Amino acid sequence: MKYLEFAESCERISAISKRLEIRSLLSDLIRPLVPEDVPPVLYMLQGLLRPEYEGVELGAGDALVLKALAVATGLGEDSLKDRVRARGDMGEVASEVLSEQRVRYQSEGLAVTEVYAALLDIARTGGEGSQESKVGGIARMLSRTSPVEAKHLVRFLLGKLRLGVKEMTILDALAEVYGGSDPKKARVEIEEAFNVSPDLGEIGTLLAQGGLNALSAVSLRWGRPVRPMLAERERSLAGLFERMGKSLALEYKYDGLRVQAHVDASGNVRLFSRRLEDLSAQFPDVVASLPGAFENLPVIAEGECVPVDVETGELRPFQDISRRRGRKYDLERMTEEVPVRLFLFDLLLRGKDSLLGMPYPDRRKALEAVVRRGDRVELATRAIVSTVPDAEAFFQRALLDGCEGVMAKSLAPESRYKAGARGFLWIKYKREYTTELGDTIDAVIVGAYRGRGKRAQWYGAFLMALFDPDRGGFATLCKVGTGFDEASLARLTERLDRSAVPAKPSTVDTGFTPDLWVDPQIVLELRGAELSLSPVHSAASGLIREGYGLALRFPRFTGKFREDKGPEDATTVREAVEMYQGQVRKVESPAKP
Ligand code: ATP
Repeated sequence: MKYLEFAESCERISAISKRLEIRSLLSDLIRPLVPEDVPPVLYMLQGLLRPEYEGVELGAGDALVLKALAVATGLGEDSLKDRVRARGDMGEVASEVLSEQRVRYQSEGLAVTEVYAALLDIARTGGEGSQESKVGGIARMLSRTSPVEAKHLVRFLLGKLRLGVKEMTILDALAEVYGGSDPKKARVEIEEAFNVSPDLGEIGTLLAQGGLNALSAVSLRWGRPVRPMLAERERSLAGLFERMGKSLALEYKYDGLRVQAHVDASGNVRLFSRRLEDLSAQFPDVVASLPGAFENLPVIAEGECVPVDVETGELRPFQDISRRRGRKYDLERMTEEVPVRLFLFDLLLRGKDSLLGMPYPDRRKALEAVVRRGDRVELATRAIVSTVPDAEAFFQRALLDGCEGVMAKSLAPESRYKAGARGFLWIKYKREYTTELGDTIDAVIVGAYRGRGKRAQWYGAFLMALFDPDRGGFATLCKVGTGFDEASLARLTERLDRSAVPAKPSTVDTGFTPDLWVDPQIVLELRGAELSLSPVHSAASGLIREGYGLALRFPRFTGKFREDKGPEDATTVREAVEMYQGQVRKVESPAKP
């Protein structure tokens, strides 16, 4: 495929926001692709060069791309800079400049694979002289592009392609193209494969080469994270038994960071977060302890990484571990200041065998057999319970030991590890469920309001939204300005300024106009008194009552930045509807005397 066709598709996609229309444009784009074109197209649509978990970055900032544009067009950097300042988008400026020089800048028929290879090359260039060579590489490409190609290439280089193309919409399109007579069934199969191998390039290539049947080749692989299995929630312990039957397992629900640990036969370790980022560099202490923590290798195991007091063995608050997230420096000092322990709760791979299809009791048995417990690595505490009083006693013990609640796990034969799925095979039950609004809500910042008075130097309140998977977008739930200390406001202000966009992103549905629009990225944990119907907020709009959405009343920030969640992992509108209905039921059926 020619890069021009790709860029023209980007142009069309960036003008629409409806998921169905995007899907149909994507299908038209994907249908004619030969297998070699599939990975470049699918990665680049998402603004990526490789799956996100590989962490491949272009390392091309504004100044570098501007310099390359100046070289390619023969214009001065200062005049280009002025135009970018006025326009707010270097992609637009690149396109305009090239249109003005139309005679020179016809498309030279660059192939998608050619551009992709050049971009990978740029990403892999490091060390001395790398900046010059990146400028050269980019300038060479720009001098061969037409205006529309230049626009999307520049946006890509700057990490600002932002087409609003979600992974799930790409899966929809793949099902439409390769799903034969039953695209709905194909969609389920493709998502199942993607949950085990969240590499769209690989899934797309298999489909293009061998259709749906080829997906049976997808298996667990060291270094490629599995999308985590997720839990539903229940508001009462009795409800757990109604869902799961006479007996069930309860595990401590640790409040830390979810970690998927991959250890290969030679003891190489990779750690992945809930959103599949590579955490290995941030936890050298955990990495060092893991090869010795198993009887057999390779393994892929899951657990919660929790800060602990090494003297007493007691768990420390979650906030401590957030000091270790995202750190590049001072790692050694941090490992001493904030020691952590990994509490393992699942085993996905043992030797050559995938355990994903095994029921939970067998996986747990296998985990217990393979783990060598020690200071750094422990098993999640658990019990099998058959009565509500026993469950209550275990829950109270979990709270006393510093956990936020318990995780109930089904013992049924069908309790296999459902990668990437949220279901009632795992149910979380937390302390908060007995107070206020049952659970906390993880919402995404889509806009910010300037602070007043003492907060005038920062943003002081934030427009918060939930994720709506059906629309592939975000809908607002509340404005929040309570619960922030000065350090959080300063940190947020800096990050929001970096993700500012000139106008409301097409994926955001709201009637509000904040002082600053931002690309939805940052997820905050909120608590509130209750969810109520709202004529002004758009979350779950029309799902409960025509003309009304849901709003969180008296919202406040809990202090927890959900760095482990991407915007699409935020609480969904469907979950909010369930929480709203849970509240209504609670009011309707008062506790028995
Ligand atoms: P989500 O349900 O989307 O993960 P969340 O992170 O807000 O949202 P939590 O209330 O934190 O949900 O509950 C699920 C998380 O609990 C898991 O992702 C995992 O990080 C953590 N966890 C702690 N202990 C356990 C355990 N024993 N088994 C499974 N998960 C556990």
